Amino acid sequence: MMSMMTNAPAIVTTPEELRRHMGRWKAAGETSALVPTMGALHEGHLSLVRLGRAEARRVIASIFVNPTQFGPGEDYESYPRQMEDDRQKLASEGCDLIYAPRAQTMYPEGAATSVHVDGPLTQCLCGLSRPHHFAGVATIVTKLLVHTAPDIAIFGEKDYQQLQVIRRLVTDLGLPVRILGGPIMRDEEGLALSSRNAYLSEEQLAIARSLNKEMRRTAARIAGGVDISEALEDAEQVLLRGGFDRIDYLEARDAATLEPVSRPGKGQARLFAAVFLGSTRLIDNMPVA
Ligand code: AMP
Repeated sequence: MMSMMTNAPAIVTTPEELRRHMGRWKAAGETSALVPTMGALHEGHLSLVRLGRAEARRVIASIFVNPTQFGPGEDYESYPRQMEDDRQKLASEGCDLIYAPRAQTMYPEGAATSVHVDGPLTQCLCGLSRPHHFAGVATIVTKLLVHTAPDIAIFGEKDYQQLQVIRRLVTDLGLPVRILGGPIMRDEEGLALSSRNAYLSEEQLAIARSLNKEMRRTAARIAGGVDISEALEDAEQVLLRGGFDRIDYLEARDAATLEPVSRPGKGQARLFAAVFLGSTRLIDNMPVA
């Protein structure tokens, strides 16, 4: 049978193999873009691969479910893993290489080094409810950037706080890489695509789809002059009445600093939400236009 995988990207699992590929490309003067992921790929991830292809000659996707960014009781064990399916999707986007290291490679026996981004960027939003999350993210992204040494690394605005944290760490460590953010990809009803949407029942999916609508309504109300805390409190009530089980946070913050915004003014305000449907935690964010 003719394989659909003729142009499937090679999968490498060690930094040495990765460097062999990268070294060949660098020697040929080719630029590279890294798209870090945890796999279970969807259009959101693939849009970042396309952005990579537009910006660089070679695109490397990493697939690694990073244990240190999950808290106790979170979904590390059950997180979807589907390498062959992911590889096909990456093949059809023209991705050049997959870096899928093993956990022991990223965290060798006795590993004792981690990267912490301190300060206001991590002391709010997801940083409060997932206290070790950003140290896990900062540590793994630093390792991936060191292993790959790409010209560009691309992250989605879906995880907007993560993107800001990574910009900070790259600036602070002086890493020679350009960080690009890609826009949030949504389904036809505006639900931000996420690998975790697969956990939702049909009924929960319908509720999940109301989140972006309520956020858009709230953003428009704030832009139209309604008091921010009043608009946010109303929205929380609407979401809870609409079937969400718990609101982790719903806040308006400055898009660059993530400092709280009490009234729209200078700078760009952004709405941030994290909500629970059963044990599934969903996040979304959007500008207050
Ligand atoms: P993950 O596999 O969830 O760690 O995500 C890998 C990268 O894809 C991160 O930079 C995410 O922000 C990005 N991403 C995930 N979902 C989306 C989406 N719906 N739209 C754009 N980027 C996304």
